[in-house]
Amino acid sequence: MDVQELNNRIGYSLSQRMRVTRLTLAITLGLILALLGVLTLAFSNQPGTKLHERSVTYIPALPPTSPPVPTPTTQRAPVASPSPTAPLPASLQQDIAFLQAQNLFFYHGNTSLPEVALTFDDGPTPYYTPQVLNILQEYGVKATFFCIGRQVANYPDLVRQEYAAGHIVGNHSWSHPNLTFFSPAVILSQLTLTSDAIQRATGVRPTFFRPPYGALNRQVLTEVYHLGLTTVVWNADPRDWSRPGTDVIIARVLGQTGYGTIIVMHDGGGNRLQTIAALPTIITVLRDHGIRFVTLQQLVDDIHTKAASSTPSPNSVVMKSPLLLKDWRRKKLMWYTASN
Ligand code: ZN
Repeated sequence: MDVQELNNRIGYSLSQRMRVTRLTLAITLGLILALLGVLTLAFSNQPGTKLHERSVTYIPALPPTSPPVPTPTTQRAPVASPSPTAPLPASLQQDIAFLQAQNLFFYHGNTSLPEVALTFDDGPTPYYTPQVLNILQEYGVKATFFCIGRQVANYPDLVRQEYAAGHIVGNHSWSHPNLTFFSPAVILSQLTLTSDAIQRATGVRPTFFRPPYGALNRQVLTEVYHLGLTTVVWNADPRDWSRPGTDVIIARVLGQTGYGTIIVMHDGGGNRLQTIAALPTIITVLRDHGIRFVTLQQLVDDIHTKAASSTPSPNSVVMKSPLLLKDWRRKKLMWYTASN
């Protein structure tokens, strides 16, 4: 074996050894990665950490109770004017009657005036709210938006637009929980944070409150009362959030609407294309029946106004009116015939 051959052999065995070392390293690395993979899989299967599932979920429907409730950081706000002097009576019905007597609780407006309030809950949302605003502008309708506080914080420009267009912006809680399940401190925090966010966006503190799900109890009413907010529920509900179809939404609204009606619809909380599609017909048909669209503030201001004519209250004529629905169907048929 000459020197050259020896050098070759040494070189060969060295490169072979290096290859073996590289292979060992690769196997070790592979094993470590595999072990990490198994561990990750094991942890990701733990309940509550299904990250993949969560990442593909579309904006979830608002839960009945929302766990991440912001902790109240403020002390109880000083009682807003007019300052309540008497404690609320015992039962919920009495509470409501007590508030109604002070114009601090409304199911509807003046049933002798041909005016209704359109209200939109659960916004603002970047896709649907601008479309609702466009339709309202096109038809020259003023409405009321009950906004969710955390969405106000996310989309303050939309809330500013609502306010700038002459609509009313109301408080619909911070995260849309069923407030009746929570302590007074949490209720207070939900309301205060939302009013703060609306005030930051519009420069004006809201005066109207709508409880999520319309859920009320004594504690909720007490906090609302202490904050000087007026509670507004509704007396026409097409349940548009359940997406029953545009025609069903139209028919339900027209069938339930009379003088002084407060109509609830939604510009957030899910797909609202049916609501948006229903809106022009609802506005047109009710206008054809001589009904004005007013903000909640106007509806409340008019609550004790006497009707100009001495004819008896016609609320039932329009509300449940088969004529109204027949008119609407005929009109729809005409539109259908005209466009086909
Ligand atoms: Zn709501």
